[in-house]
Amino acid sequence: MIARKKLVAGNWKMNGSLVANETLIKGFLPEVTDAVDVVVFVPAPYLAQVQGLCQGSAVKWGAQDVSSMPNGAYTGEVSLPMLEEFGVTHVLVGHSERRTYHFESSDAVADKALAAIEASIVPIVCVGETLQEREAGRVVEVINAQLDPVFDRCGRYAQNGKWPVIVAYEPVWAIGTGVTASPEQAQEVHAAIRQRVQEKLGLEVAQSTRVLYGGSVKPSNAAEIFAKNDIDGGLIGGAALSSSDFSGIIRAAR
Ligand code: PGA
Repeated sequence: MIARKKLVAGNWKMNGSLVANETLIKGFLPEVTDAVDVVVFVPAPYLAQVQGLCQGSAVKWGAQDVSSMPNGAYTGEVSLPMLEEFGVTHVLVGHSERRTYHFESSDAVADKALAAIEASIVPIVCVGETLQEREAGRVVEVINAQLDPVFDRCGRYAQNGKWPVIVAYEPVWAIGTGVTASPEQAQEVHAAIRQRVQEKLGLEVAQSTRVLYGGSVKPSNAAEIFAKNDIDGGLIGGAALSSSDFSGIIRAAR
């Protein structure tokens, strides 16, 4: 059994300012040790600032979305070569807000994941069902449909029992709502995701792939969620904007 290191990822979404970012990072930096991986996903204009603040520390930084194209006439987009220039190691793809407000399909998300892998940047592929889909008993079906294009395009990069992809399970009904999936509800879906990875890429890859939980994680519920067998950390939205809350969540992951 491979031990998976916990990862705590902060998704700042469209929040922050030069002053607020510096206060936030300086506030949680002392909590970061080698025991837990920490990555912050910041708005693109702040990548250079965050690189300056985090370089040389154990904190890594990433972007909240990326184009699958390397350059060209794509107004408003940001490319992987651009992210590389700012020391980015991870990128979010397929966050539910991108899928909902920007109509990103699971195929488009898988294209982004593939482009990231090919640039040696780790994609965190976000998946999750709506409340309606959960109530209809379609959770696993919906998540498999979101993940299968990722296996199709990126599966060949699974080598020597490792896959340069992280999955984040974020039930849409739990994002920013204050309603968290119970640790048992989350564990059930995480186990199903790991099962799907095993079916597609084998046991060894399934055991080494990290699956994060996201959706109203707070310092008060993080330890209980992270204690579950198949939950390897969290993707944190609202609570990642407060250095004391984010610090508390990092401590809960140790
Ligand atoms: P939340 O957001 O922690 O505010 O629910 C999580 C996310 O959208 O990644």
